[in-house]
Order: sequence, then C-alpha cells, then structure tokens
Amino acid sequence: MADKTHHQVLIVGGGTAGITVAASLRRRGAPGVDIAIVEPSDVHYYQPAFTLVGGGAYRLADTRRDETTLIPPGVTWVRGAVAALDPDSNAVSLGSGGRLTYDYLVVCPGLQLNWGQVEGLKDALGRNGVCSNYSPEYAEYTWECLRNLKPAATALFTQPPLPFKCPGAPQKIAYLAAHHLRRKGMLKDCALHFLTHAPSMFTVPLFAKELKKIADGYGITVHFQTNLVAVDGANRKASFKVVGGEEEGQTLTLGYDMLHATPPQSAPDFVRSSPLANSAGYIEVHQHSLQHVKYKNVFGLGDAGSTPNSKTAAAIRKQSPVVVRNLLHLIRGGALEEGYDGYASCPLTTAYGKVLMAEFIYGGKVTPTFPLDPRKERGLYWWVKTTGLPRMYWDYMLKGHEWFFKHDTNWKEPPVAQ
Ligand SMILES: Cc1cc2nc3c(=O)[nH]c(=O)nc-3n(C[C@H](O)[C@H](O)[C@H](O)COP(=O)(O)OP(=O)(O)OC[C@H]3O[C@@H](n4cnc5c(N)ncnc54)[C@H](O)[C@@H]3O)c2cc1C
Repeated sequence: MADKTHHQVLIVGGGTAGITVAASLRRRGAPGVDIAIVEPSDVHYYQPAFTLVGGGAYRLADTRRDETTLIPPGVTWVRGAVAALDPDSNAVSLGSGGRLTYDYLVVCPGLQLNWGQVEGLKDALGRNGVCSNYSPEYAEYTWECLRNLKPAATALFTQPPLPFKCPGAPQKIAYLAAHHLRRKGMLKDCALHFLTHAPSMFTVPLFAKELKKIADGYGITVHFQTNLVAVDGANRKASFKVVGGEEEGQTLTLGYDMLHATPPQSAPDFVRSSPLANSAGYIEVHQHSLQHVKYKNVFGLGDAGSTPNSKTAAAIRKQSPVVVRNLLHLIRGGALEEGYDGYASCPLTTAYGKVLMAEFIYGGKVTPTFPLDPRKERGLYWWVKTTGLPRMYWDYMLKGHEWFFKHDTNWKEPPVAQ
C-alpha cells in the first residue's frame, strides 16, 4: 500500500493535527475514503507537557510515543518529508525524490524552530546554563539548570516575536522556577528576568493583568518589547534589542546563571515557499472553515495555518472536527461549515499545584469551559494540565473522538465590587 502514489485524502504532517484529522475521518465512518499521512518522524511528542518536564514535574519518557502506534488503522503512513507543494497539479514532492498526488490535501506540518536567528544560541544550547523547553532534547536540561541554581543566581526567560507555539509557555517556566526557588528559600536572593518581545504579558488583556500581578508577586523583573538577539555561551551573557518604547533601538546585555530561551518560529520553509502560503508564510485558509482561500480541495490547520488564533493543541481539538466535516461535505456533496471560532486554551502553570486556565476565541474574547471565574489560579486546573489533558490527548483526541464540552461564549467579566 505504501507504494501507491495517489490518495484520495493526503495529510502532510502526522503530529497533533494530522493524527487527529485522520482518526476523526476514520471514526466518522468514512471507510471508503483512502487516507495517507506523510510524516518523517518515528516518534510523536505530547509537547504541552514539555513545560512540566522543564519544571521537574513530568517524565520526558511519558511525553513520547512511537508514531506507529498512533497511525489509525487503515491509514497509509508514508515515511518521509514533503519537500514541495504543487497545488496546481494536486501533487506534493517528497525529499526522497518521489511524488504523490491527491484529490484532497490537509496541510499541518507545525512550526519550524529557527534557533539560528539568534546569534550564538544554537551553539550555546544544552550547556553552560542555556536550556529550552521547546525541544525534547533540552527540556530535561531546564530542570537540571533550575536545580543547580545557587543563592544570588540570575535566571533569564525569553519570549520571541509572535507567533510561536503556546503563547504562555515562555513565562510558565519562569513561574515554576520562581516557585521552586521560593520553596528552597532562595527567591529573595536571586534575580529573575522575563524578557519579552511583546508590549504586555499576554494578548488577552484580562489574563495579561492577572499574569503581571503573578510575576510581580514573585519579584520577577519584566522587560517588555525586548528581544533576544545574541548569546555568548562561554561568558554567560545574553544581548537584547529594545524594540519599542523610549529606549527603542538600544541594546541590553545581561549576565546569567541560567537562560531559558524560546526560539523564533515560523512556518516550515517548504510551506513558506509554496503557492499555499500567505505573505507571512502560513497556509492561507479561511479562518472559520479552514479551507484554503484559493485551492478549494486544500485545508490547513494547526500551527502552520494562517488563522489568527493562539497556536495550541487545544485549538486543534476544535479545528479538526471542522476540517473533517468540511472534507466530507466536499467528498459527498454539501455546504461547507464555518464552525471554528478561534478557540484556544493556554493552561498557565503559575506555581507547582496551580494553573490559570486562559481560554479565548478570536478577538481575545474570554470563553471558559468550566463554570468558574477564569481569572483565578486553581489546583483543579493543575490536575487538568498534568493528568486530564494528557489522557484526553492520547486516548480521546488522537483516537478521533471529538471534543463535545462547550466553551462559554457568553462569559462576561463580573463588575468590580464597590
Ligand atoms: C513548550 C511547549 C509548550 C506547549 N504548551 C501547550 C499547552 O499547554 N497547551 C496546548 O494546547 N498546546 C501547547 N503547546 C503547543 C502544541 O504542542 C502545538 O500547538 C501542537 O502540537 C501543534 O500541532 P501541529 O499538528 O500543528 O504540529 P506538530 O504537532 O508539531 O506536528 C507537525 C508534524 O509535521 C511533521 N513535519 C514537519 N515537516 C514535515 C514535512 N516536510 N513533511 C511531512 N511532515 C512534516 C513533523 O515531524 C510533526 O510530526 C506547547 C508547545 C510547546 C513546544
């Protein structure tokens, strides 16, 4: 079967989105539909738990499964990477030199981590206190760096320009680090800095306000509009460019004992250079139907999509059913649905045992799933993050069961008591 070069539905990328779409298509009773996934990697990671691995609260081994165990029965796995997309010929070229054709294409190859865009970062990673939860290779080293911090240490946490995977991840690890140091009685003596390219803590003002209070509560110094541009690993120095405000254009250089870096990110090069990309390089889809704006037999979802939602697995949980239903409408005849409202969720680990559950849709409208005040950090959400969501991911979402809990689109911030 793997030798077949034409497939009715071809999925590019067997990560969160690719497996979910394939499994949902199967589960929705599309037995006659011939589906293939092109995916180069033998392993699949549950990336949302990388933050917990970096904080020493989760085993890396528990984030990893063999790809073979996830490809849904009856779906062909083409083990390889797509090198070019040719939607005018309904074809993709493989890095190995082969070519596949399709009737319908789903593009979801995730984001590319551009370590090389920060001078010296790639070489510095993994030693001398430079770590990152953004790669399974370095997430465990984050915990090693944290454990090794000595009194009066300086720890830096960086956030690049948007978009990047999970809008809260660069600051989540700063809170876990601060809580870890507080528990060891060292927080007051240490200097923690969160340096972000953004002008606020979060894109949704309600959560931005709460997160600033949390950072202040730990004594974390926040530098807005400050972007990491160079790392001198041997001398443990990081340089930042100020990108806005009164000091715009100036360079700030800080020494560190630990540097948690979040790399700049983009759509993969083969997407950026394809006719499917918008001017920013992302697969240009309609933001509610997820159908490509020009090629009607193409859908895009997940991190590589152009939709202006936060790039999270939670978003894919709500995008996938829309893509699957619309694919089946195209195959069987029927009007397309405009069902995706931009939902994303970001469980912010604000302490060991506490999470602020940020859920929102397009336009930054807050839309909690639980009937609880979303401004509050809760122990319940820590359980959801560490236990509930991983189980949901492996046993439910990647098996093609569609999420039916609704988020509350009518939630309003309660008036402040006088
Ligand atoms: C540190 C961290 C913390 C996070 N925290 C959260 C969180 O708390 N909550 C949350 O919901 N989300 C979180 N996320 C984000 C979430 O993991 C991603 O949004 C999600 O996995 C994206 O899914 P995707 O299918 O678009 O991409 P991926 O899951 O990355 O899959 C893309 C797949 O495409 C494959 N691929 C790449 N190039 C090619 C090619 N040329 N040809 C074929 N296949 C290719 C890759 O091998 C990969 O398997 C976090 C991510 C990180 C890194």
